[in-house]
Formats: sequence, C-alpha cells, structure tokens
Amino acid sequence: LAGLYIHIPFCKQACFYCDFHFSVNQTLRKDVVNAICKELEIQKDYLPSSELESLYFGGGTPSLLNEDELSLIFSTIDQYFKISKSAEITLEANPDDINREKLRIWKKSGINRLSIGIQSFRNEDLKWMNRAHNSDEANHCVAMAKDEGFHSLSLDLIYGIPGLDDKSWEDNIEKALSLNPTHLSCYSLTVEQNTPLHKLISTDRYKNVDEERSSAQFDILMNKLQESNWNHYEISNFCLPGYEAVHNSNYWNQIPYLGIGPSAHSFDGHSRQWNISHNKKYLESLSDGEIPAEREVLSLKDKMNEYLLTSLRTSRGCEVNYIKSLDANAYTSIADQASEFIDSKIMIEENGFWKLSQKGKQLADKIASDLFIV
Ligand code: SF4
Repeated sequence: LAGLYIHIPFCKQACFYCDFHFSVNQTLRKDVVNAICKELEIQKDYLPSSELESLYFGGGTPSLLNEDELSLIFSTIDQYFKISKSAEITLEANPDDINREKLRIWKKSGINRLSIGIQSFRNEDLKWMNRAHNSDEANHCVAMAKDEGFHSLSLDLIYGIPGLDDKSWEDNIEKALSLNPTHLSCYSLTVEQNTPLHKLISTDRYKNVDEERSSAQFDILMNKLQESNWNHYEISNFCLPGYEAVHNSNYWNQIPYLGIGPSAHSFDGHSRQWNISHNKKYLESLSDGEIPAEREVLSLKDKMNEYLLTSLRTSRGCEVNYIKSLDANAYTSIADQASEFIDSKIMIEENGFWKLSQKGKQLADKIASDLFIV
C-alpha cells in the first residue's frame, strides 16, 4: 500500500538553519489549501492503489492549519482515496502550536501520530536557531498531547549546535526519554547554502559547526539509546519496538508515494517528480489545471545508487542478492569495494546483507557514494 504526503508551505518564522520550502507570509494560505485539494483530484490515479497505508502532513508547519483548512483537505482525500483502517496518519507539529483545542481537532480528524519539532529543550539553543517556541513549551507539549490521547509521538532533536556541549546534549536526550515518546528523529545541524545560518557563519557573526563535536554527539546518542533498548532502525531515526515510522520507511523501501503541495516529491516505482518550490507559481499552474512538476525516469544506475544510499542507512541493510539481481556486472565492483569496507570494520556482512557498523554510521553518505556505480 502506498503513502500520501501533503506539504504545507507556511511557517510562523524562519528557523536559521532551514532550507525547506516555506513562506512566513500567510496571505496565500487559503488559496494554497484550495490548490492542494485540486491537485489531490488531478493526481488521484497516480498511485498503483488508491488505498493509503500512510498519510503525512509535513512542511513548513502543518500545525498552523486551522480546523476548516484541515477538514477541507481530509474531506478531499476521502473523496479520491481510501485511507486504510490501520493507516498511520502523522502531522508535524511545533510546540508553540500545541494546545488542547488543536489537539482535539487533530484527534477528531483521524490524526494518530504527531511528530513534534522540539529540536532542543534549552532556550539558548532555541533562540540561536530562531525557533518560534521556548523551553517551557517544549517541556509541556508532550504531556499535553499524551493527555489528549496521542500515544504515538515522535520528537525531533538537533545536535552539533555550537553552544550545546556534550553534557547538555545528554541532558536533552534524557529529557526527551523522560517524556516517554515512542520515536525520536535526531539530526546533526548542517549548514545549507542560502540559509540565514550560512550567511551568519560566513560573515563571522555565528560560530561554525564543529564536525568532530557533532560526531561525538552522534556517538553519545547511539550509545544512550542502545542502553535504553531503543531500536536504531535508520541513521537518524530511533524507536521503541514496533513504532517504526510507516511513512518514512516507505521512502527507504522504494514503495510508491504521492506528494502534494509546493515542493512535494512523488515516486511511482519507475520515476520521480517534484513540484515547483514557489507558492505563487504553484497556484498559477493549478488554476490552469496543471501540475507544476518536473519528472525524471529512473535509469538502472539511478535505481542501484538510490538503493545503496537508502538501504545502507537502515538497520536491515543492503540485500546483496538484490544488488546482484539489479545488475550482475556492477555487483562485482560494488562487492570489491564492500569487502574493503568490511575489512576496515565500517561495514559488516550478516545473513546476506551489508550493514554499517557503529563507526560506519558516522560515514554513511560517504560509504554509499564510494559504492555507487558511475
Ligand atoms: S518550522 Fe520547520 S519548516 Fe519552518 S522554518 Fe522552522 S524548521 Fe523550517
């Protein structure tokens, strides 16, 4: 069964590190919601089956949507798709948007999982990143969500923030665990081009990220969650047994998904397409009944390299026989490189799968790109 992603391209304010597509100007919000509904209608046959196993509201900040906007999107989805009874329905929410009224609206509309952008429990980090919430809101929103009946909760945390020392990072992890979430997504702070953070660092107004500190904090994270028996099922994702994110796992397992909204990506098993990252142009195209997307049909090389990149990031690993079946010739050179990585203990081979060792997890992208076929 497939997944549906809805991108809500609006935020209250711009976090300095963020390079996702969003606008802080809310003027076009209603129009974009209407256009999203129109795109849902046009794209209703994109997926091999109209039955959805996962529905994911991401952004941007979908927790900004009001009740009418959310219910319009849900009723349009119901019109053109069938949400499976056991579907995972996730909404990304920021702590400053979480209140009892919104939680009740989300619950009533069928959302059964929240992914909360905590990032840090410390005011100094939140200010440094220009997040819209404060430490109090980060501390209280999880218990409130639980109290309103949300059991499946994922928290996002960021490490490698200059100013966040190892002890404070450990405290952040412990604080997160004490709130009893079921899932954690933890990312190292990266400085992307064209972000305010990039500008602040390149003009010496902000300290740069210390890569060594960041790797050390990734190790602290892995060790701590291992001790607590959490499942490290993807490089940046950890969960209690049985709480792997269905939606994100679909991305890693090459399962088709449809992305709706400005900048959203889709995959039908053979090709990828991505919508324009511009709210006004998105609206103009949809008003002409057209999807403003570019499309790329995947070659065998693309499929192989994507599989290497995504599968190695997962705890399941990369299935050696699958690589062979994709391209027996390429397999020989990939296997040669893989055995070097196994000798240097950054990879292991286990029951027909190549997997990254803890040391290898620090180098995941580099290892995958060294295995790529050219
Ligand atoms: S709230 Fe999320 S999407 Fe919006 S600017 Fe911050 S990190 Fe980016």
